[in-house]
Amino acid sequence: MSGSMVVVGLGPGEARFLTPEAAEALENADALYGYLPYLDRVPTRDGQTRHASDNREELARAGAALAHAADGAHVAMVSGGDPGVFAMAAAVIEAIEAGPDEWRTLDVKIVPGITAMLAVAAKAGAPLGHDFCAISLSDNLKPWELVQRRLELAAQAGFVIALYNPVSKARPWQLDKAFDLLRAALPGTVPVLFGRAVGRVDESLRVVPLSGARAEFADMATCIIIGSAETRIVERVGLPSLVYTPRSSKGGA
Ligand code: SAH
Repeated sequence: MSGSMVVVGLGPGEARFLTPEAAEALENADALYGYLPYLDRVPTRDGQTRHASDNREELARAGAALAHAADGAHVAMVSGGDPGVFAMAAAVIEAIEAGPDEWRTLDVKIVPGITAMLAVAAKAGAPLGHDFCAISLSDNLKPWELVQRRLELAAQAGFVIALYNPVSKARPWQLDKAFDLLRAALPGTVPVLFGRAVGRVDESLRVVPLSGARAEFADMATCIIIGSAETRIVERVGLPSLVYTPRSSKGGA
């Protein structure tokens, strides 16, 4: 019996954000692997086993899931948002690259999901309407100096910046440092969006000027979008304002 491995993006929260392709892949799996809060979002089905693991054990989790698939099971690895964005798809492929030859013959599929920055952007308007980049603020997998360099260059280049993993208990000061760096490169009026738990019942969105952006507005469930000098706010009477970045740029970043 030949097994398979599908890495499935669950989207940012509620089931309405799950694509039909992702729902079908979950339904067809014999075994589900993933970080417990993500597994908890998947409806249970008889005959399907669940293998929850801690958030920081990605490579071990990927290896266990691949070994299970190599034994003939149809395995689904779940990820929040999109599995290819700071998530399990790359961990699974790293494990395949470093693992036994038999893992290279497995049927492997990646099923995309709505990533956090797209869900946050859609709530606010169209802040990603022109060129943008995404940066994880975590220095678990790269040196902090590299994070700083990328932030500075991205701001200088005029990119809107989506920040993932903005803070954690182990990284309390980095986000305020990042805002300080960005304030040195961008006007203080640039809109900064803090989208928290977007797509879930407790979602929130806060928009502040860069001059007033503080790390205390974010937690691990927050994705931050920092506008460029061209990002604008359209105010509306009695309705939420619309944050957007025009499609065309005058250049001169
Ligand atoms: N693969 C995920 C990202 C994993 S990194 C995706 O594509 O969305 C984890 C980070 O994603 C969090 O620290 C936060 O910055 C962001 N995030 C995940 N879900 C979110 C949500 N519902 N609302 C806002 N940010 C979210």
